[in-house]
Amino acid sequence: MRSLAVGENLFPSLASLDELEEVIPEVVFREEVATWARRIGVEPKQVQLRAMKNKWASCSSKGRLTFDPELLKKPAAFRAEVIVHELLHLKIPNHGPLFKAVLRSYLARYGS
Ligand SMILES: [Zn+2]
Repeated sequence: MRSLAVGENLFPSLASLDELEEVIPEVVFREEVATWARRIGVEPKQVQLRAMKNKWASCSSKGRLTFDPELLKKPAAFRAEVIVHELLHLKIPNHGPLFKAVLRSYLARYGS
């Protein structure tokens, strides 16, 4: 059996390690959605992941949120913006000045 020498690099390069960290598992994404839902004080009826055309996410009038699985490859700050945007629609169903102000304040408050 081959043993690892102390200090031996388990990963071929730092670059490939970074790539690994760029994709998160679906369960982590769902946890992010649940965390933001608690902060905002909303309860989506259903959260599904499905490939979408021309947009990252949508919110149905019945309170069902759909996110594109490609989001799992996006940076945390980008994911947060999409997640908060859709969850906020459960409270504010438009993109007016109030929606934009509340969205900005949530993202600023939690530093993402
Ligand atoms: Zn929207």
